[in-house]
Amino acid sequence: MHGIKVLMAKNYIDNLSEEVKKGQIEKAEQGEWPSRAPVGYINNKETHCIEPDPQKGPFIKRLFEWYAAGEYSLKSLALRAKESGLFSRNSQTINKSGIHRILKNSIYYGEYIWKGKRYIGNHQPLIAKELFDRIQSVFDRANHPRETKRKLALAGLIKCGKCGCSMTPEIKKGKYIYYHCTQFKGDCDNTWIREESLIEMLAEAVKQVRVNPTVIDDIKKALLESQKDRIKYHEDSITSLRRNYDHTSKMLDRTYEDKLSGAISTEMWKRKSTEWENKLIDIQNEISAHQNANTDFYQVGLEILELANSAYDKYLQKNRQEQRKLLDILLSNCTFYHGTICPTYRKPFDILAKGPVFKSKRG
Ligand SMILES: [Zn+2]
Repeated sequence: MHGIKVLMAKNYIDNLSEEVKKGQIEKAEQGEWPSRAPVGYINNKETHCIEPDPQKGPFIKRLFEWYAAGEYSLKSLALRAKESGLFSRNSQTINKSGIHRILKNSIYYGEYIWKGKRYIGNHQPLIAKELFDRIQSVFDRANHPRETKRKLALAGLIKCGKCGCSMTPEIKKGKYIYYHCTQFKGDCDNTWIREESLIEMLAEAVKQVRVNPTVIDDIKKALLESQKDRIKYHEDSITSLRRNYDHTSKMLDRTYEDKLSGAISTEMWKRKSTEWENKLIDIQNEISAHQNANTDFYQVGLEILELANSAYDKYLQKNRQEQRKLLDILLSNCTFYHGTICPTYRKPFDILAKGPVFKSKRG
């Protein structure tokens, strides 16, 4: 019973972060940058959009121009940024790689990438796309030509059980796919393994999440029980977040009064007010996440049970790409060493799966 409650609380939290992500994607689709403004922009509290930072914005533009002119290295630009007082949004010094990130960020000419997708923003660009493209071609020339790897079903899923490096796929004789340790950390005595064998061994891992029919009724009872806890948790969370929001708003107002009365410097006001405003954005996001979160605990629990029970049959019927998707849902990590696979299950499936070591039938 306790296990189920812990599990469902965790599921609720996961669901929350899902809701935050969903909200952000909706915003991104509408052309609005869904998070804290990148350096050079500020979040406008009224419009919920980003707009150029009057101080830092022009400097960002200059960074691009300087780099495009070829007169400065990334290192010397980082130094200039520091001298001119250009700091990150957390008031940190921007180092060489920070400058590199800025120069590669397409948001400055008007497009941004959110969760792997590119969107055209409504915000005012700081630079022209032409300037941006020119700089990217400089970067491309500096980089080694990237190897294009064929998408292989299990790539990135399995790590070497000995040294922790990735097990990377390699095609032999144009058709056989073998996985082997990359040996990035030095020589490793781990064996190579065929993709077919891995698929078979992973089937055993998937099989483990099936729920014993004799305990299903108990689990359902526990789920109903924890439904009550969850509603209370949900309500308590929202109340406490609202309180936090009001408190932070008050702090913001008070700081403003302090600024008017001269009790704090303008510099201090800027720093403090940005801090409070960012906090308000975060709290607001959390509140809407709670409001959108699925409170039907029981239903979610049943769905998890259903997924766990049908996973194995589904796995057997699907093609490699679909099998991979299923594995990503169930497993967070997997190691391979000398014919043995050791899966780590994602929550809540870790509670359902036990004794997770499987031997390869064919090595
Ligand atoms: Zn290894």
